[in-house]
Amino acid sequence: MTAHPFRTTLLSCVAFLAGACATATGPSSEEDIVSSEEVVVETEEMSPSRAMHERAIVMDTHLDTPANLVLPGFDIMERHDPALDYSQVDLPRMVEGGLDGGFWVIYTPQGPLATEAYEAVRDTAILRSLAIHKMVAANPDYFEIATKSTDAARIEGEGKRIVYQSIENAYPLGEDLSLLKTFYRLGVRMVGPVHFANNQFGDSATDPEGPDNDGLSALGFELVKEANRLGILLDGSHAHDLTVYDMMEASKTPIILSHSGARNVFDHPRNVDDALLLKLKETGGVIQMNALGAYLKVLQTQPAKRAAIMKLRKEMGDVDQMTEEDYQTYLETRRAIDAEFPSDMADFDDYMEHFIHVLDLIGPDHVGVGADWDGGGGVVGMQDIAAFPLITERLIDAGYAEEDIKKIWGGNVIRLLGEAEEYAASLKE
Ligand SMILES: [Zn+2]
Repeated sequence: MTAHPFRTTLLSCVAFLAGACATATGPSSEEDIVSSEEVVVETEEMSPSRAMHERAIVMDTHLDTPANLVLPGFDIMERHDPALDYSQVDLPRMVEGGLDGGFWVIYTPQGPLATEAYEAVRDTAILRSLAIHKMVAANPDYFEIATKSTDAARIEGEGKRIVYQSIENAYPLGEDLSLLKTFYRLGVRMVGPVHFANNQFGDSATDPEGPDNDGLSALGFELVKEANRLGILLDGSHAHDLTVYDMMEASKTPIILSHSGARNVFDHPRNVDDALLLKLKETGGVIQMNALGAYLKVLQTQPAKRAAIMKLRKEMGDVDQMTEEDYQTYLETRRAIDAEFPSDMADFDDYMEHFIHVLDLIGPDHVGVGADWDGGGGVVGMQDIAAFPLITERLIDAGYAEEDIKKIWGGNVIRLLGEAEEYAASLKE
């Protein structure tokens, strides 16, 4: 591939962001690319598809990157190599991939449904939100917290990265829904009730025991009501189909599936079938396409590899508690395990098969991107966010117009946020 002029500019900007150019070019160099008059000249030199990609507000609705923010030595401003530390999102690669931002996830794994456990996990979730705020506060020229639907366009226009926050697994709320307001105040604008297992709010798509609430629990219905009241989007990813139907029925505004796939392409409980997708369309909702390989097609599982990773984690403990030195040792061992057991992986064509299937079925007003970066997403040919322009290329090839592509990359989720805000405001009138 020959490098064209924009490419060069982009990479020198990346080098600047990585600290390699010190401050000689001044803090506005990234803004120059995105928002100054020079951008007009620059976009003329880009390929038409790349230029279209740059003109869109490009957001991913499931960035698990906040889990990396608490890792020893992790710096969002530096370029990372996924082959070395598995990370998929940082500022230099956001610039390279034209990713303007999205929803940064406050994730906590499911634990026991008991008061003590709720208290501990509540603190973990609050601290995760604070880690997101700290990232933004440390780099105010490059990131900004977004809370309103109109913030995305404004922040993108200023050449900064958009930082909405979401909760994946409402488990940390315990049984006290007033806590949702605390998270709202911290900036959270999306909440998914469950993760891998059923909890106090309802049924998960992947609980080995199957559903035990027939969808949302009574508390789950209260969660929907409170989220609507505050203007927080409801996220049905990870929820059992019955839970998603309950959410679509109970919510006063359209719901989102922040990172899901198509079950009619690959039958997996983390994907949704065509009937559910049609109901999602009917209710005005949006599905954001997930790039987690094991949900895209049948992959060879490797129990020996899994066992080796489990053993390593058991021996070394939680990564976020390690010293930087121990963390490097951990990564070294992890890479050795990968070399011993190469993974079977899905590729970019598998990803786009799900994407195009859903687009054909429910149209560009109801589809977007939530590729599960830093949370298991990534396929051969799109291993980190730097590869995002490839999606725009494929959408153009599939016949989608710029107007559609803009909705897919950001317009749809912004519309949903606006509807949630309007409903919340209407209650106050
Ligand atoms: Zn997830």
